Amino acid sequence: KAGELTHFLQLMAGSFASLFESKGITYHYTVSLQPAWVQMDSDKLEQIISNLLSNAYKFTPTKGQVRFSASVEPEQTGTCELQLIVEDTGIGIAEQQLPRIFDRFYQVDDSTTRSYEGTGIGLALVNELVELHNGHIQVESTLGSGTTFRIHLPLEIVPAGERPGQKGPELEIPVSEPSIP
Ligand code: ATP
Ligand code: MG
Repeated sequence: KAGELTHFLQLMAGSFASLFESKGITYHYTVSLQPAWVQMDSDKLEQIISNLLSNAYKFTPTKGQVRFSASVEPEQTGTCELQLIVEDTGIGIAEQQLPRIFDRFYQVDDSTTRSYEGTGIGLALVNELVELHNGHIQVESTLGSGTTFRIHLPLEIVPAGERPGQKGPELEIPVSEPSIP
């Protein structure tokens, strides 16, 4: 589906503001997209972003900081690359655990007494969705000081004349074939 990304991402990012605020986490988001009209599946994009932001929320203590940024780099004609960054000053992930966080049901702390809720499927889903769209994910983390996720997603740009709402009147399509006597 064709859609305008800036508006969508701004709403999406903004919808997390009160959640972060309620935990005393400073939250900043920036959305700056150049070609903003792309073919996108907004449900999947929403799942990717909300999983990363809810992890940032969960694994960042009060007084921490979370940043979200979305930007676009033009690629070859007709395509662009969306870059999403979610950065937190949370508990971090040890280097030896890092390769496993995208595994289904993997949680760094899997003890029954752990203080974080969840089932360990969020990042597995994010990884699947990103790979399905030929994108990639990078993660950098330092135990005790924070984590940064970077996602790159190639997207197809919708040509100016084909953007919904910019077209002239829809072509009239005859309901039935005209009969030829
Ligand atoms: P679910 O997403 O199903 O609610 P979850 O959040 O525990 O559960 P994932 O989102 O898949 O599962 O993350 C897997 C594990 O990676 C987490 O349990 C946590 O140990 C670690 N992790 C993920 N994001 C962060 C983060 N921002 N900071 C620190 N650790 C993280
Ligand atoms: Mg999660």
